Formats: sequence, structure tokens, C-alpha cells
Amino acid sequence: MLRWCLRISLLQQYHRQQHKLTVAEDLFDFHRVTSDTNDCSNTQSKEANPAITKVDLDPYGSPAAFLDSAVQCVADGGILMCSATDMAVLAGGNPEVCFSKYGSYPVRGKYCHEMALRILLACIESHAIRHKRYIVPVISVHMDFYIRVFVRIFTSASTVKTSPLKISHVYQCVGCNSFHLQNVGRINSKDKRNVALPNFCPTVPQECCECGHKFVMGGPIWSDPIHDKEWATSILSNVQAMSGAYPAYAKISAVLTSVSQELVNAPLFVSLHSLCATLKCTNPTMAMFHSALRNAGYQISGSHVDPLALKTDAPMSVIWDIMRCWVKLHPVKSRPGADPSNRILSQEPKLQASFSQATGGLVARKSPRFVPNPEKYWGPKAKAGRPLKTPHMDNCEFRFTANTLEAGDRTSISK
Ligand SMILES: [Zn+2]
Repeated sequence: MLRWCLRISLLQQYHRQQHKLTVAEDLFDFHRVTSDTNDCSNTQSKEANPAITKVDLDPYGSPAAFLDSAVQCVADGGILMCSATDMAVLAGGNPEVCFSKYGSYPVRGKYCHEMALRILLACIESHAIRHKRYIVPVISVHMDFYIRVFVRIFTSASTVKTSPLKISHVYQCVGCNSFHLQNVGRINSKDKRNVALPNFCPTVPQECCECGHKFVMGGPIWSDPIHDKEWATSILSNVQAMSGAYPAYAKISAVLTSVSQELVNAPLFVSLHSLCATLKCTNPTMAMFHSALRNAGYQISGSHVDPLALKTDAPMSVIWDIMRCWVKLHPVKSRPGADPSNRILSQEPKLQASFSQATGGLVARKSPRFVPNPEKYWGPKAKAGRPLKTPHMDNCEFRFTANTLEAGDRTSISK
């Protein structure tokens, strides 16, 4: 239902923009939808068809097999909607499978769901540029247990040459989870042709400057903006104006509110809890951390992917300097051995962080950005036909007897 609602609201926005219609004049063209029972890859024509302005790929699992034909059949400026439900693969559970399907290595981290979005976008772009086409993401969201992207597809041989500038590798430290991005391509300012050349050697040293551990390399991922904020804001206002028409209004409004407030020029994010877990220190409040970064002259926002996410244009060295200043105010015990926190805290901060409230800092929002799960034990259920290995927790009770844990039916134990 949520996927359907978001698609309808976005297509309405697209329809109005193309035909310069107002909300009242908008007549959604359902009558032009036709069904076909042939193979999806064969049904999608090999040439861009001006009649097909909207294509929705919503397969069970990975859409990778359909992307090559899908990017060819959409008309110039049309919309391709694409879902992927194989989150175990995209989020790093099976990295070798992800590489075989999407051509990218995922990295396990707090930002893995946003990285999944960027892997899918990079995969769509890689298929598009083979046909002198390129993508412009409109909205890309992670919801519930799947990801969904909405991209416009254009044809331009000259723009395709700058595609390497939108793709990056990710270096993630195995000790402190610091991450750094490096573009695949670069522009030579002396070359007037505006052609992307191979980028220079890694931007990170062999060992992390903060904790001394090694890096793993993930990607390539899409590192350009994944949302068009103008579209997101416009869709949100349209959805709010027609709130009664959307059964999943609360959820879709929360997602669009969060998306419209995201920092678009900051790929991936850090998690405040992850930073504090590395240093084994108490958490500053989100408002204090937001203020510290704003006082240092950087931008910061949340993310629709994670309530604890911090998206910022500040480098990792500034983020760790703020945490060092926080630990000076709230000391921690030194850890034994080669714990990453020892080396991080042994360095003096180059920046003196101010945690006083900054102008334009985090304020209480009128609209919720996240909504609670609709019911208890909500989530993907077991595969059909597979017997449950353990009894459901509701019908089971545990008790300690003679130093062993005994499980049994709630009614039999209570007797
Ligand atoms: Zn590190």
C-alpha cells in the first residue's frame, strides 16, 4: 500500500509538471495502462518509446535482470520507478552476491540502507550510460524492508561522459567506522573538453589517521544527490492537501518530511550512538551535536533511513575532534590493548567545539519524521511452507531450574 501511495503521489506531480496542470485540473490517466503477460525483458522495447513515459519495476527480489531493457524503453525525460526487496544482499549480508548482481561491494555499517540505495542508483546509471542515457534521481527511499528509487532518464552523449564524477568508492575503517569517499573520475581543469579522467591514487593512507586500523573498500556507489528537494517538498505539500485520499498518509507524510529536510550533498552518514560506542562514553544529545557542528561552520541534518543518523558536510576529523572535546567534559576510563578509543583520545583536538545552542539548530518539529511499527512482531514473516523451529514467544515461557533454562508451554508451566 505504501509503495502504491508514494508512486501515485509522485506520478501526479510528474503529470502536472509535464502538462502544467493544477491539482484541480489533474486527471490521472489510468485509462492508458495496459497489461501484458509476456516476459518483462522482452516486453520492454529495445528503443526508447515516446509513448512510455513511466515504467515501474517492482519484482519479487532483485530488479537487476530487468534494468538494461528498462532504461532503454523509457521516453526521454520519463520516469523509471524501481524497487528492490533483496535487502540482505544489498545491505552487506552476502557481498559477493551483491557484486554479481549490482556490480558493487556493500560495506557493513550504520549507513548500509542508504548505501543500498546508492548501489541500486549506480547500477541503473551503469546500464543507462551504455545506451548514451543518464539518470537524475527524484526521490530514493528506504521504507520498511525494501528500497525504492524514482529516477528520470534523459539522453545525452555529452553528459554521459561526466558519469564517473557521480560514482565513488567508499573506504571504511574497521576500527572506528570512519568513512571516506573517492570519486572514480576527476575533471582536468586545463582540458576544455570537460572529459572525466581516472582519479588519482587513494585519498586515504594505509592506516586510519584516527585509530590506526586498516580500511576496507566498498562500492562503487552513486555519490550525487539521491533526492530532488524541490520535488520532495512539492509532493509533500500535495499529499498534505489531499491527506484523506491516502490510506497510509501518516507514514508517507513522515517519509517525505524527512526526505525534504535531508542534506543532499552529504552521501552516507554517521550514527551518534556508534561514535559514542567506539569511545565508550555517554551520549551528547542530538541537539548538542547538531549545535557543535553548526558552531564549527558545517551543515548537518538527519536522514529518513535512521532516526539517529547525522548527515553532514564536515570531514571525519572534525567529527572526532568534537567527540574528543565531549570526552574532555565527560571523561572515560582508558581501555586495554589496541582499542580504537585509546589512539583516538590520545590525540589533542585541533578544534575547540562549542556545544552551546547554535542559530538554526535542531528544533522540535511539528510533523513526525518517523512513525512506530503498526503492530507487535511486525516484519517479514517466515518463508511459506517452512516449519517454525521454535515456538512463538507468546505461547512459550522460560524458567531457570537447577542452573538450566527450561522452556515450555505457558499453560503447562503455570500448573
Ligand atoms: Zn579508524
